[in-house]
Amino acid sequence: MFYQPTRIHNPHDIHKIGCFAKTGLESIIFWTMTTVTVDNKKIWDSVLTHIEQDVSRASFLTWFKNTSIQKNDGSVISISVPNTFVRDWLQNKYHSSILRVLRGEIDSLRSIEYVVSRVGTKEVLEQINQPTQIQQLELGDIYIDKDDNLNQRYTFDNFVIGAFNELAYAAAQAIIKNPGISYNPLFVYGLTGLGKTHLIQAVGNSFKRNNKNTKVYYLSAEKFGIEYTEAVRGGRAHIFKEKYRKYDVLIMDDIQFLSGKEKTQEEVFHLFNTLYDNNKQIIFSSDKAPKKIVGIEDRLKSRFEGGMIADISVPEYESRLAILNAKVRQTNISIASEVLEYVASAVQNNIRELEGVLNLVSAQCQLKKRGLAISEVKLLIKNSLKPQRTISINDVIKTVSTFYGIEERELYQKTRKKEVVKPRQVAMYLLREDFNASYPYIGQKLGGRDHTTVIHAYEKVRRDAGRDGLLYKEIEQIKSVLYGTN
Ligand code: ADP
Ligand code: MG
Repeated sequence: MFYQPTRIHNPHDIHKIGCFAKTGLESIIFWTMTTVTVDNKKIWDSVLTHIEQDVSRASFLTWFKNTSIQKNDGSVISISVPNTFVRDWLQNKYHSSILRVLRGEIDSLRSIEYVVSRVGTKEVLEQINQPTQIQQLELGDIYIDKDDNLNQRYTFDNFVIGAFNELAYAAAQAIIKNPGISYNPLFVYGLTGLGKTHLIQAVGNSFKRNNKNTKVYYLSAEKFGIEYTEAVRGGRAHIFKEKYRKYDVLIMDDIQFLSGKEKTQEEVFHLFNTLYDNNKQIIFSSDKAPKKIVGIEDRLKSRFEGGMIADISVPEYESRLAILNAKVRQTNISIASEVLEYVASAVQNNIRELEGVLNLVSAQCQLKKRGLAISEVKLLIKNSLKPQRTISINDVIKTVSTFYGIEERELYQKTRKKEVVKPRQVAMYLLREDFNASYPYIGQKLGGRDHTTVIHAYEKVRRDAGRDGLLYKEIEQIKSVLYGTN
């Protein structure tokens, strides 16, 4: 045969060979044109070989797994990527390296584009980030009153009552009618995402609405502890005590955080006695029944048990469906009842997840301008719910550092380098927001930092992510790697 195996990377070269071959042997033209295909796989392998030498194994696998050349017309190459997370990352971090290697292979290359080859949850999350296009079902924590710390979003108007929470609801209503008398304290407990915060804040908001003069205050036990410790350190303990003793209704969320904090418990105990003796209403919430919380003094536990204890359990199917219907009614979005029924049957653990899935479904309906098939909803659920596997704090730190392209150990160091400060703040935010780690614990883990630094970081990221589309997206992308939803 005349044919010499030629590695042709640019399809235009086929034409050149064709022209060349035309000079004599017609049969060879045909043979050449059909056999010499552009070997995109080889080109991409060569890119990967180059890049692999420059990055860590973990980064390489994270960013280049499931990538390939999808199209190559000699001047534009389309690289297929599994999700927008990878697309953005390749575009931002690896684009110039990829371009350099590809140019070495293909002289005529003008540009590269990254194409997501599979539509999944991340595209929807990305779109949610565009408020003008997508109406969100949830408003987020944007309406927090500085004076009483209550979020106006939590009211009884949007609180669905079912068998799972009716006892807690009834107790809450009794308190609103007769504060400080019927049930004092009210102790609400239940697993995460079942509506404790919503319920106890709704009580606070009702008081506010009914009587402007009622002094209500809401805060988490953890925040109380931190504020108290700071006040003691700063010689302001008396001001602190005075502040909390003036409230008519004090709502303390997540008191399991008091576990092991003896001094703070002592302060809560004395505060409780003062308020109680003055018929002021106190409301506590916790993830466990008082008896089951370890590391809390017996005398405080007996105070917790002295009024009304109400648990919130996991909502049954009818309640889950009612919650979905109520949330849909609050917006102008219409979602088919079969879809809502499917979501209600498939998402069983808690209301927060139920809301999350509904947000995704709603966003995707708006994007596609049509209703979703059950199979699409199924996929969405599969991709969006957190996996059961436990994700360690080290996983979070590792993923964040890989994402921002810094060394893991840098997150532990005290450096103030700009390229480290932001990733560290994001790591702190995630540990708090998604893992409910305590501020002091996060501080200790990430370079022995003070809890106030962590609070500052957490609040900053939360604020900025609300404003800054890019940061929001970055966080969603980190989560997608962490929870394996891509
Ligand atoms: P918890 O404090 O128990 O972890 P939250 O009060 O934060 O749970 O509730 C999680 C989410 O579910 C919130 O967005 C809340 O508004 C919503 N939610 C909880 N319970 C209900 C309910 N009964 N009806 C409607 N929405 C609810
Ligand atoms: Mg809560």
